[in-house]
Amino acid sequence: MEELFSVETNSEQETMLFAEKLAGTVGKGVVFTLTGDLGAGKTHFVKGFAKGLGSKMLVTSPTFTLLNVYDDGKYPIYHFDMYRLSSKEEGEELGFNDYFDLKNLDGVVLVEWPEQVEGMINCPHIEIKIEKLDGDKRKIIVGSKT
Ligand code: ADP
Ligand code: MG
Repeated sequence: MEELFSVETNSEQETMLFAEKLAGTVGKGVVFTLTGDLGAGKTHFVKGFAKGLGSKMLVTSPTFTLLNVYDDGKYPIYHFDMYRLSSKEEGEELGFNDYFDLKNLDGVVLVEWPEQVEGMINCPHIEIKIEKLDGDKRKIIVGSKT
């Protein structure tokens, strides 16, 4: 990953606001991976991002459904949580590799726990790494992977 920049946030609201602003700068056909421990703030990042695209849908971790679609904003958001998968093959059997074919992507993809399907996300994408610091502080590192 090539690190582009990083920011520090001091609350879930600040993380959401950062993601909301970032959403305003991207077009469709962009894939984001979100890494960080449980409780780092990946889902809150998606909440802010969805708001930034004008969605009013409730964003929750798709831990059991694997994929949530928020389709009431500027363009659809495909929100994955790969936590329960354990290989690229499992993801491919579910047809998820289609979402990483950028030419045919009509929205934005955000993936929690991408490391569970290592190798499936083989298109250029933006990596968001969230590190837990003291208390409610988080370091959000933004990078690109080609
Ligand atoms: P993940 O999806 O990474 O498991 P969640 O977004 O579901 O994490 O949860 C993050 C938790 O951490 C929430 O309870 C949220 O209130 C809390 N939190 C505290 N500080 C922050 C922060 N700076 N950014 C994001 N979440 C924070
Ligand atoms: Mg989550």
